[in-house]
Amino acid sequence: MFSSTKQKAYFCRMKTIDQINFEGKKALVRVDFNVPLDENLEITDDTRICAALPTIKKILDDGGAVILMSHLGRPKKGPEDKFSLKHIVSHLSDKLGCPVKYINDCIGDEVTSEADKLKSGDVLLLENLRFYDEEKAGDKTFAEKLSKLADIYVNDAFGTAHRAHASTAVIADFVGNNKCFGYVMANEINNLEKVVNEGERPITAIMGGAKVSSKITIITKLMDKVDKIIIGGGMSYTFAKAMGGSVGASLVENDKLDLALSLIAEAKEKGVELLIPVDSLNADAFSNDANTAVSDIDKVEEGWMGLDISDKTKSLYREAILSSKTILWNGPMGVFEMDKFAEGTKFVANAIADATAQGSFSLVGGGDSVAAVKKFNMQDKVSYVSTGGGAMLEYLEGKELPGVKAINN
Ligand code: AMP
Repeated sequence: MFSSTKQKAYFCRMKTIDQINFEGKKALVRVDFNVPLDENLEITDDTRICAALPTIKKILDDGGAVILMSHLGRPKKGPEDKFSLKHIVSHLSDKLGCPVKYINDCIGDEVTSEADKLKSGDVLLLENLRFYDEEKAGDKTFAEKLSKLADIYVNDAFGTAHRAHASTAVIADFVGNNKCFGYVMANEINNLEKVVNEGERPITAIMGGAKVSSKITIITKLMDKVDKIIIGGGMSYTFAKAMGGSVGASLVENDKLDLALSLIAEAKEKGVELLIPVDSLNADAFSNDANTAVSDIDKVEEGWMGLDISDKTKSLYREAILSSKTILWNGPMGVFEMDKFAEGTKFVANAIADATAQGSFSLVGGGDSVAAVKKFNMQDKVSYVSTGGGAMLEYLEGKELPGVKAINN
């Protein structure tokens, strides 16, 4: 299960739900139920709810009671019906196979009285934490009120672990040692550690997506950790232009050309192989119906825009991926939402799947690469799909996440 003794040591240091017997106890679990809802307030993707089920079930199986708290959406000021967690109660209940009680607040006398009444096997869902400004502000009084609802605090919301909010971090000040990670958090940390500190070499990071500006910090930090960095997506054209190429109407950040050059120089200095596309699939419009043509990446014609990698790049990237023992993938290779420009992303996903089948460890994370893996139905062909987004990127950058620190300290 563990790739090294150092990793095993880290995993053993983490206080997880497995080290606690919840019999006769009430657990207050911070989950991430921030699920997308359609205009009829129906859940369109229940991945986050399903992810939390093992943690809830473990507590119930032990003979404990569960109080669930989460945020949903971005309420501006106070309660808003469309962001109420009441919309997920019946789905959660179906998934758990038991009734779920719901209360339309998360603190106050009524909530305390409902929490007091809970018996072994009961599940209570509180209302959206962000109906109180105190949640995001990390307010101590609010956090303390939440902490009083149960005997043990469980943090299982990796998606918000990079925020020092009342329910994700500050609350830990009021629970003594009665705190631990749920399975989602433990799994995320365990798998991210396999890349950040325990990765078997060679380690390759594949960075795609729209803009270099949103990936600078992570690319710079990864230079100290990985052997190869593969660049794809819109940001490739900023690199190509910086090196003197013509990129036509491709997405370019003209104010980041120097930065692209300095990343190239830094990679050289640190002995990191930086792979930039050599060819490009170009379109005469940003449309799935556009005419297409292939060119070298530095010879995109005027009026044409590069929307995917092409064959030469694909085979170079496949070779680099197959010779890696640890692979991190963040961001698509092209405009994968349009079928005409999804091939590069699909090809890279397949190469990662093949490397994984040969025994390499692969972690996919960040909104759009996760969406791509789902679109191609390849979730089971990579080692781990991180649900973290911003939290995952900050962890990879080497930051100590407030939600993780709160439990570890
Ligand atoms: P990000 O959120 O930065 O990971 O960017 C993901 C977005 O980048 C996706 O919506 C892609 O369609 C887009 N993208 C990828 N390649 C290109 C490209 N060559 N030109 C414009 N957009 C791109």
